[in-house]
Amino acid sequence: MKKYRGIQDLPKNLNRYDESRGLDVHGDVNDRPEDNEHQMLDEEIATRLDDTKPAAFAVFHEARQALKPSLVDSMKSDRPVLIVIRLPGAAWHDAALEGLRRAVEAEVRTIPSLDPYFLSCLPTKDARSKWERKPAAERAESIGAGLAHGSTVLMLGPTDEIDERIEAFVDRDVDLRQMTEGLAAAVGRRFGDTDAAWPPDLLPATIDPLYLDLAFARADTAADAVKTLRRISKASRSAIQGPRLEDLHGYGEAKGWGLRLVAALLEYQAGRRSWSDVDGGALLVGAPGTGKTLYASALAHSAGITLIPTSYAAWQSAGDGHLGTLINEMRRVFAEAVAAPPSIIFIDEIDSLQARGSTSRYDDWWRAIINCLLECLDGTGRREGVVVLAACNDAANLDPAVVRSGRLDRTFTIQLPGEEDLARIFQHHLPSLSEVDIQPAAVTLSGSTSGADAARIARDIRQVARSAGRDVVAADLLSVAIPPDDRPVEIRRRIAVHEAGHAIALLVQGIVPDCLSIVHGKGGGRVTHEQDRVEGRLADFHGWLTVMLAGRAAEDVILGAPSAGAGGLPISDLGRATTLLSHIEGRLGLGSQLSMSDHVNAAVIEARLQRSYAEASLLMVRHAPAVKALAEVALAERVLGRARLQAFWAAQIVRGSTPR
Ligand code: ADP
Repeated sequence: MKKYRGIQDLPKNLNRYDESRGLDVHGDVNDRPEDNEHQMLDEEIATRLDDTKPAAFAVFHEARQALKPSLVDSMKSDRPVLIVIRLPGAAWHDAALEGLRRAVEAEVRTIPSLDPYFLSCLPTKDARSKWERKPAAERAESIGAGLAHGSTVLMLGPTDEIDERIEAFVDRDVDLRQMTEGLAAAVGRRFGDTDAAWPPDLLPATIDPLYLDLAFARADTAADAVKTLRRISKASRSAIQGPRLEDLHGYGEAKGWGLRLVAALLEYQAGRRSWSDVDGGALLVGAPGTGKTLYASALAHSAGITLIPTSYAAWQSAGDGHLGTLINEMRRVFAEAVAAPPSIIFIDEIDSLQARGSTSRYDDWWRAIINCLLECLDGTGRREGVVVLAACNDAANLDPAVVRSGRLDRTFTIQLPGEEDLARIFQHHLPSLSEVDIQPAAVTLSGSTSGADAARIARDIRQVARSAGRDVVAADLLSVAIPPDDRPVEIRRRIAVHEAGHAIALLVQGIVPDCLSIVHGKGGGRVTHEQDRVEGRLADFHGWLTVMLAGRAAEDVILGAPSAGAGGLPISDLGRATTLLSHIEGRLGLGSQLSMSDHVNAAVIEARLQRSYAEASLLMVRHAPAVKALAEVALAERVLGRARLQAFWAAQIVRGSTPR
């Protein structure tokens, strides 16, 4: 990488890109028609390049380096190639495509309009969200289909993953996240300096190409342009796209730690705190899609500092795949972070690094990589100004030295969000829906839905609403997020009656459930509610027993006979009621004995269970109209949140169909 030395050193007047490679714009005029044709082609290519603005020109320069002769030969002989372009940010899409086209023209010496050369971009800017929603297998198929037609370009965002199936076909990976050389070439061309350089801390991710082009056009010197761009970069860092950490949910303790780190980083920047008093890093452990990458970028956003995403795969694809190149790339990433303090390096999938000594195969390879990482993590003394966050799915196989004290010694496990967090995540992605709209889906989907799933569901919902030409409405969430129910209607009705029984038993006691759901998945259906704090009297436990047994009793009363649905596992209605009664009898001193014993008389338990069941049945008989009505609502709506249940119960009371 060239070192930025200041504007006085920049080259003079290199307006036209006339390096000898490929472009022979000043060649002699030749008499042979084919030579004339070639010359015209070259002129056209040169003119198009002349008209290329600086941002696209920088990409041109980078892409040109990447188009190695073997690749050019393949393109010339019409063998379809797959080029992956890693964008610094979505704003770079058009400039990247233009720069790549110019590079292909220069190298392959063909122009789409003269000699149609298929260059399709997947996904296009507008189709990006559609592309994102596609499952990995479908994306791979689209790439395959693109390749069957001709050469294909795949644009990826700064942190997008390449599917392994696609990776196998990638001919060239052009990483535009740094572009120091390309941008230096653009400076050289505009302001004239054969030895131009670009300040490495001025990251393309923080500069919209539009502003880059404007700054180049208006500045008199490279120094002026860089000065303007620094201001823009600083402003856009504080306006980094995406949420701030304080606006996110579902991160448990990691959120508090991150917010404290943000405060510490701000104090460090203001010179009020020394780096040794700032936490230098943490390990985030969690399943894919639990928001680890988002956490890192939100933290950087909150602190207004640069995020440098990296990974083993990125180090590996940076060059020829040789160990030395890989290690150099790792060092370069750390050096880049150190050059722009404070900054955050985010090492994704750190568990792809094998622990030293864990495998007899390639141990030397992994040993060298881990040793280099340890060296980078330690730095000389300590890497001043650089926070390192690393993410993995499973920390069990990490090299112990990486998580040793002073390195990534703090671990946060990011779980799938619970009901409340999932509701907030949905709200984050669907701000037009209210808490009441979202709660039923959050309750139904929690425990099986990651933040990424929630984001995907939100995208699908917006798409549904868009194609219907209207805004997102509450019903969209359930219809998109919850698959259609293919169980026979008799089974669904029985489940609805059963769950309505539980819910009515709660409502009668003045407790509004959080949710009634008959959605297939976690059991046939469920009613959830927050357990009241009780004094622990026998009457309190009787209230619980009535609720537990009311599902079976409702089936009995409304449908004429119960099903086996209340039994089965220890966590079933009958299982929980039996356990509660044996505790009442043998442990809590509320039954026929005071002494504690695990061996309680089964006949006593049975008699108590029968009595509680009779009470629950009586309750269901008294409230049969309400149970039936609620079952009908549940059948139609599938999931009812707290607000809906409250409204239902209020209407029943008004109608007088709820005797007490
Ligand atoms: P990971 O790195 O753990 O695989 P990502 O950070 O890439 O997950 O998450 C993918 C996407 O899922 C994010 O860009 C975001 O849209 C969504 N997402 C994940 N977790 C959350 C969350 N806690 N809040 C809001 N959105 C989230």
